[in-house]
Amino acid sequence: MTVTTRFAPSPTGLIHLGNIRTALINWLFARVNNGKFILRIDDTDAERSRQEYADKIKHDLDWLGINYDETFDQSSRFDVYDKRFQQLKDSGRVYACYETAEELDRKRKLQSATGGKQVYDRSALKLSDQQKKDFEAEGRKPHWRFLMNSERVEWDDLLKGKISIDLTSLSDPVLIRADGVPLYTFTSAVDDIDYKVTNVIRGDDHTSNTAVQIELINALDNCNITFAHHALLQAASGDKLSKRDGVISIESFREQNMEPLAILSLLATIGTSNSIELKDNIQQIIDEFRIETISTSPGRIETDLLNALNKKIVQGFSFNDVKDRLANVDDRIDELFWDSVKGNLATVEDVKSWADIVFNEDKIEVEDKEFIQQALSVIPPDPWDENTWELWTSEIKQLTGRKGKELFLPLREAFTGMKHGPEMKQLIQLLGREKILNRVNI
Ligand code: GLU
Repeated sequence: MTVTTRFAPSPTGLIHLGNIRTALINWLFARVNNGKFILRIDDTDAERSRQEYADKIKHDLDWLGINYDETFDQSSRFDVYDKRFQQLKDSGRVYACYETAEELDRKRKLQSATGGKQVYDRSALKLSDQQKKDFEAEGRKPHWRFLMNSERVEWDDLLKGKISIDLTSLSDPVLIRADGVPLYTFTSAVDDIDYKVTNVIRGDDHTSNTAVQIELINALDNCNITFAHHALLQAASGDKLSKRDGVISIESFREQNMEPLAILSLLATIGTSNSIELKDNIQQIIDEFRIETISTSPGRIETDLLNALNKKIVQGFSFNDVKDRLANVDDRIDELFWDSVKGNLATVEDVKSWADIVFNEDKIEVEDKEFIQQALSVIPPDPWDENTWELWTSEIKQLTGRKGKELFLPLREAFTGMKHGPEMKQLIQLLGREKILNRVNI
């Protein structure tokens, strides 16, 4: 049987590092087993789902190199869900309920006040045909719950080991809302059957869903799926990650010009028993993947670590590796330029700030004219190299008696027009003697 995994995001927001980690694990599991990886868009909730987000999820996956063998939208399968629902109806495994949200809420409050389990009391099972008719005459539409028969569900979780869940501690799940929309618990089970998913790998926030879905899949078919629940990633603060947290969305990393390999390297190792390190390429990540190294305790996302990985990639790029990207920034950037500045860059595109400093033709107004004149009086002759700056500034120091900030800051301001920036030792080589003499206005 072909190993088949799936990533099933709801297109209700931008996906973040935690979501994409689940995708990556599923993708890696399929790849190492020569299997199939499916992208399923869980969009049955028309109110909350947006095509824009589904497109962005695909873009994020493409950008990272996580390719899928098949994709489909749940919203294209309502007729299939109808048939499966009929199957459950025919076998007496669903029942109509008429409680309003407020009534259910009141029940829960009462249960909690009396210290009872907050589980649906199945009172709808006792409704007579006449009572149901009366409700419908009042204009109420039924929602449908799945009748769970077993007391317990057990499975061997690939990551958490033996799991045993008491189904009587869970409410019979609603499969179809009063407006007729089928819900996730149901549609996911149907799709996992129809697409012959062999391995469901997802966050451990889904553990009790799994118990319910095993029961449901068994009611429809035969559940042969192997489940694995990984711990969720947390923010550095220990808080839950949220789709609303734009700063950790994959889109935001793309917009910050982060390298995909930095993200993949981090996600392949965070929350595992392996140390976090930069991988050479995606193939190395596939080759090294072992699902059993994934930890059951949550990993925390340290953005500093991601930045460090990214920096390492950028600094390892030769001019040839990035020449097209550099040409997009400024076509005057040549090999010498790239090699001089790359050590100071956090991202490839940050090269722009250097290009702006080096290539602009503006005259720079100088405040401390006398000092700069003295400095220029001892400007070294060509050719310049990486020692020039030190030689030159020690001469200026001797001549003027200045040192530290007093010495360096006015020089930086006079030659670059900025108070901060890349190392002067490299910058002056890129500027060159003539440009420095021409740009200072004294
Ligand atoms: N749409 C669900 C989610 O994003 C899918 C969970 C699953 O993998 O079954 O949580």
